[in-house]
Parts: sequence; C-alpha cells; structure tokens
Amino acid sequence: MSTMPIRTYPDPVLAQPTVEITNIDGKIAQLAQVMLETMYQAPGVGLAANQIGIQKKIFVYDKGDGPNVVVNPVIVETSGTWTYEEGCLSVPDLHWNIVRPNKVHLQGLDLDGNTIDVEVDEYHGRIFQHETDHLNGILLIERLTEEQKESTKKELLRMRMTPPANSRDGLHLLFGDE
Ligand code: ZN
Repeated sequence: MSTMPIRTYPDPVLAQPTVEITNIDGKIAQLAQVMLETMYQAPGVGLAANQIGIQKKIFVYDKGDGPNVVVNPVIVETSGTWTYEEGCLSVPDLHWNIVRPNKVHLQGLDLDGNTIDVEVDEYHGRIFQHETDHLNGILLIERLTEEQKESTKKELLRMRMTPPANSRDGLHLLFGDE
C-alpha cells in the first residue's frame, strides 16, 4: 500500500487550478494508483490529484463498481438540476444538500490515452462535477447557498478549523472579509 496524506481546507493547494497532463506515462499510472489507494483508505468515492498536493489534472473515483481514472477532464455540457447530500475528504465531517446540474457530458482521457466521452447523471454526474471542480481549484464550499455558508462558518468556528485572523487564505477567501 502506498498512500499520501489528504490535504484539507484551508490548504491553499486546494484553491489552485491544476495543470493539464501532456504525457500519460508510467509516472501518471503510478500517481493514479497512489490516488486510488489513498481514496480507498480514507474511505471516499473520489479523489482529485491536488487533494494530495499534486497539481495535475487527474481524478480517480469508484461509484461502487470498481476503480476509474480520468485524465484532463472537461465538462462540456450540463443540464437539469439535482439535489444531493455531498461531502468532501478535504472538508471532513461536514455535509450539505447541494444543488447542481443533473446530467453531465464529460470528456477526458483514460490511462491508455483513449478518449472518454460520456453522458452521465445523478450520482455519477455528481462525482464528475465534484472532482472536476477540485481540479479547477473549486471546493464544494463554493457551491453552497448564502444561508448554508453562514451556518457553515459558525460550524467551522465551532470546530476550530478557522485559520489565524490575519490569514488571507481560508475563510477570508471563501466567505469574504467581515
Ligand atoms: Zn472533494
């Protein structure tokens, strides 16, 4: 087993967009393996590379039917809406009912460099949106309603996850100065 520590909010690496992978070689396959083992150990259903501090556009997931890897994912189209209770390994112990598009058209590559071009919905679509967001430097906290943000801020303070008051990272960036 080879795993890496999962970065948690407000680690700034989670807010940085990742870089496209130009060469899918053995190192990328090795990275995918470490990501899968880290995800299963957590345990979680999806993991993006920047969640272990690697700024590359790749995520792994298992929605219950085996491991999958997507390189350079792009969501080209979405439609409808679907509300689902969502959490994140990088924002531990918190869950929200988040409204997102239901149907998702995703394009990317697999580890052999073959094109992935699929339309999925509901749970599968939710994983794609959550992980693609990660790779674009977006945490699910940014998908909350204003009301959810307010109650979350209180919860985070209660859980003492807040960074020092003078920090420009973390709560200030996500929730604005007060
Ligand atoms: Zn996540």
